[in-house]
Amino acid sequence: MHASARHRLPDEVRALWVVRTSMVSPSSIERAVALAARYGFNALFAQVRGRGDAYYRSSYEPRAEPLTSQPADFDPLGYLLRCAADAGLQVHAWLNVFYVWSQPQPPRSRQHVISRRPQWIARDAQNRYQMTTAGKVEGVYLCPSNPNVRTHLLKVFAEVAERYPALDGLHLDYVRYPYEGYCYCAGCRARFRQAMLERVPDTRRAQLDRQATGRNPLAWTQAFPAEWSDWRREQVSAFVRAFSRQSRRINPNLILSAAVWPAPQLAARNKLQDWLHWLRSDWLDTVLPMAYDKDTAVVQAHAARVVEAAQGRPVIVGVGAWQIRPDSAINKIRAIRRQGARGFSLFSYDAITQNGGSETYLQQVAKAVNRDPFG
Ligand SMILES: [Zn+2]
Repeated sequence: MHASARHRLPDEVRALWVVRTSMVSPSSIERAVALAARYGFNALFAQVRGRGDAYYRSSYEPRAEPLTSQPADFDPLGYLLRCAADAGLQVHAWLNVFYVWSQPQPPRSRQHVISRRPQWIARDAQNRYQMTTAGKVEGVYLCPSNPNVRTHLLKVFAEVAERYPALDGLHLDYVRYPYEGYCYCAGCRARFRQAMLERVPDTRRAQLDRQATGRNPLAWTQAFPAEWSDWRREQVSAFVRAFSRQSRRINPNLILSAAVWPAPQLAARNKLQDWLHWLRSDWLDTVLPMAYDKDTAVVQAHAARVVEAAQGRPVIVGVGAWQIRPDSAINKIRAIRRQGARGFSLFSYDAITQNGGSETYLQQVAKAVNRDPFG
């Protein structure tokens, strides 16, 4: 289907996720590119939309707060693309999708989406949301079923694709619900009811409506739990399909990918993230299952299952390098290769180099990254 994009993936993808903390100055970007190239990596997944903000030139979202001390014309993504081209590295723009805030205090910019459009925020069954990470929820998410949210995100991502034709790919993250306990906002309840209407006899409908306007606003979702889950999965999938069509129209060479929960059935059930469907529908060119387990046998099993489920489509397996020693990362890289994955990506450059301050970890994994003959 999209052979051109897939063809542009390196034969083996040897990638680093670069968190936005390394996108804050020209020198931090130069350092990331220099170290990646020095130790044999060929692709960067660089975070340029972290929390509803921009590490690039955006007309729709505020410039990220950590860039305040930089000159106004400093464009982290533009600068990264120039540096990476010189070094021969691919750059994929890593874009957090529905996850937009994680600080206890509100954003400084009035332009931020949660200040401008608080009614777009996803809610739990008690109609609450939380500003910071606690329990199963990382902070503030936008509601995936809200058509205005989707239109906004599509505009944001179209602009990235249009303004940066040198990009190799767009990489989605947090393209899911926080967990199955979201979203129960008023809009979701109304839209789900609407979607169910023609399947429900009139008497039942009147009964549920009475309950919903009375004591139990969740009457409809509770009456149809399986349909409620399917419907929410479809909301995320509809966004991914629209994102894919739009991105391919703007630049057919873009490699479209997403970071996903490693077990497809659990991702679909617990996060409403039906990524195997997205991959098999060719809406995405590749996926990056985040196989962050410390146990190499578990990572190997995830890699094997995902490669098989992908039915020949490329899979790039994510390694939780931040929480393991270099020798363990090496074992995982070798296990991932044995399963026939297209490559691997280490999470994250920032963690394993201490924000560029130390090369030790990269030095130690380099012999595996560079495919030593004993690998
Ligand atoms: Zn909602």
